[in-house]
Amino acid sequence: MDANKIMKIFEDTAYVRMGGSDAELRAAEYIRSLCEGLGLEAAIEEFDVDMATMRNAVFCADGVQIPCKGYLCAGSGEVEAPLYYLRGTDDYSLSLCKGKIVLIDGYLGYWMYQDLLENGAVGFVTYDGNANYADRDIDQRELRSYVSKGNKIPGVNINAKDAIELIRKGVATAKITLEQDEYVGKSRNVILDLPGQLPEYIVLTAHYDSTSLSQGAYDNMSGSVGILGVAEYFAKNPHRYGLRFIWCGSEERGLLGAKAYCAAHEEELKQVVLNINLDMIGCIMGKFIACCTSEEALVQYVSYLSMELGFGTKAYQDVYSSDSTPFADKGIPAVSFARIAPPNTATIHNSYDTIALMKGEQMEADIGFITAFTQRMANAMRCPVARTMPDNMKEKLDIYLARKRDKK
Ligand SMILES: [Zn+2]
Repeated sequence: MDANKIMKIFEDTAYVRMGGSDAELRAAEYIRSLCEGLGLEAAIEEFDVDMATMRNAVFCADGVQIPCKGYLCAGSGEVEAPLYYLRGTDDYSLSLCKGKIVLIDGYLGYWMYQDLLENGAVGFVTYDGNANYADRDIDQRELRSYVSKGNKIPGVNINAKDAIELIRKGVATAKITLEQDEYVGKSRNVILDLPGQLPEYIVLTAHYDSTSLSQGAYDNMSGSVGILGVAEYFAKNPHRYGLRFIWCGSEERGLLGAKAYCAAHEEELKQVVLNINLDMIGCIMGKFIACCTSEEALVQYVSYLSMELGFGTKAYQDVYSSDSTPFADKGIPAVSFARIAPPNTATIHNSYDTIALMKGEQMEADIGFITAFTQRMANAMRCPVARTMPDNMKEKLDIYLARKRDKK
């Protein structure tokens, strides 16, 4: 895969592709056609996802309408209440949520939402973007079903500039109106098999969906091209272990594609010796990392390999917020490769994640290293990575997947 072909793929996929949308389907079919171009036959596998069509979303602060996007899957209705800015999640601050529409910082995570419900909040407001950027973009957010578990209160997302204004002015009362149709839709994984000599295989994953404002060149058409490059190499080169490539849908909505795959292929997972996941590679600036959700020995192995091949890599043991996690949660050792850009050179989940962040030659180099690693694992007499999850990683998985609350 040369730099020109890589950049052509970024051009071809320069559109928003949210999980469950027609645009995501278009991207799935495009990836399948890229495989076809390599003489390889990929399959598209559907799975169910919660969807909603927002008919009306209004947010008023002291009677003045503020631009917003309503939270999808957060129900319909109207709520009017005092506005309260939750500055911190200490018990005292939380106790003041009762009967209020609560403005929070950052993402609406699982525990944040539970705190809001337990403390009697009647609605919520999040904000994104950056006060220093020229745009007034607002990301489309959703109340994820594993966050709400059916207990829905209405919420809106607004721009950071407006959030600051609400607090500067000391707005007293807020009103949220949501009208939406919720239904079950489809998202898709694209699956390509390259059988090996052994029944066991390595799964390579990369998500191809994006968030609502993002063309997702860096996050994560880059990784999607990455595993395609690995597939191209192994279509012509031997491998003892089988290789299964999965372009995952709806990762940005909570790793839904990888979770659906693991649920639908539970029995087959016993044959999987390793997961290699790519999420954000090949950007112009930044360092290459290998996040190993596995025994510590893999960290050392990747470090030694990067030294041997002269490819600067920071390897460490942790849980990566990507499609590797549902596999690791099934006890499959996983490594996520990424090139992490300094945040003042590239950001994600906004309209700035475009082809402008990408460099074809850097993509080639990153794919080269990932292919070399895969080559060694796929041709090992026995895959050296222990097929167990150490206790420290199990603990991190429990916290990441909200089965346990991080006490820190
Ligand atoms: Zn990503």
